[in-house]
Amino acid sequence: MSQAVESRGVTVRVPGKINLELVVGPLREDGFHELATVFHTVGIYDHVTATPAATWSVQVSGQTAEGVPTGADNLALKAAKSLARRYGVEEAAALSIDKNIPVAGGMAGGSADAAAALVACEALWELQVSRDELEPLAARLGSDVPFLLHGGTAIGSGRGERLAPVLARGELHWVLWVSTGSGLSTPEVYAECDRLREAAGEPVPDPAPSGELIAALRTMDTSAVGAALRNDLQEAACSLYPVLEDVLEAGTSLGAQGAIVSGSGPTVAFLVGTQAQAIDLSVGLAARGPAGDIRRATGPVAGAQVVQSVAPAGPPTFTG
Ligand code: ATP
Repeated sequence: MSQAVESRGVTVRVPGKINLELVVGPLREDGFHELATVFHTVGIYDHVTATPAATWSVQVSGQTAEGVPTGADNLALKAAKSLARRYGVEEAAALSIDKNIPVAGGMAGGSADAAAALVACEALWELQVSRDELEPLAARLGSDVPFLLHGGTAIGSGRGERLAPVLARGELHWVLWVSTGSGLSTPEVYAECDRLREAAGEPVPDPAPSGELIAALRTMDTSAVGAALRNDLQEAACSLYPVLEDVLEAGTSLGAQGAIVSGSGPTVAFLVGTQAQAIDLSVGLAARGPAGDIRRATGPVAGAQVVQSVAPAGPPTFTG
């Protein structure tokens, strides 16, 4: 391989997501639950760089790298290989992930890296495949992967892979409580949700997003968005991770306008009206809440984006 070819590389920045609403419907025959969810990207990012290589590999560094697999199980590597298979690319790639999204935190970090790897390798191999065309491949990799190709705020149905954008003007300010201990396994949280529902003995209706949240997002009325936040997995996440009740209580008593466990948890998202309030809440939570990492972020933000592309013949091109 020539020196010029080896210097090719593409870096993609990808955010994590929270679910503003997660309505969990009945268990389907394929083992998944029918969902109605409102995804929302927040500005906490991983960076995935793809470079040409003789063999496939992935390495992970960064603030939240611990525990992320570096073998064939890594979702970014799976995504890159499946793209190569689908489009007949014979070249391999070395992936490098700079990880900042909490792992097993309910923010879809693995799915985000998979979406980023698809976008990075598509650009590296100059496949001319659009985001929409990448969607079926993304959906096979994981229910949240299609959303992270696009980002923003969107309704997800089916397993979450069927998307419709939500018209949302302006931005929302979030304070995130991130567990410094172990994460939660998504299948275990769903199983706990099923167990609690069976014990309650109530029928589970087909899921639908609420009109209140969609209306509140149109005007970005923070208190209305805060009141409409809903997560059907929250009770199950709290049952498996009881400190979450204290976290929710601490943020609410410190003035958050909304509080919700993100996806299957254990990350908790608090909504406030301004950046100044976000600073106040994060200081208060760090001082008085249960131990955890406190992060601030705004949303919505764009999904996976190329931020640096190094071509064989020239200097790096920076975008975004
Ligand atoms: P979700 O909200 O999509 O259910 P999550 O945010 O709770 O997921 P992830 O951070 O996506 O959880 O990680 C789930 C598991 O996926 C991890 O425990 C890890 O073993 C595995 N995994 C594979 N590839 C990655 C990756 N690139 N980044 C993070 N986790 C990965």
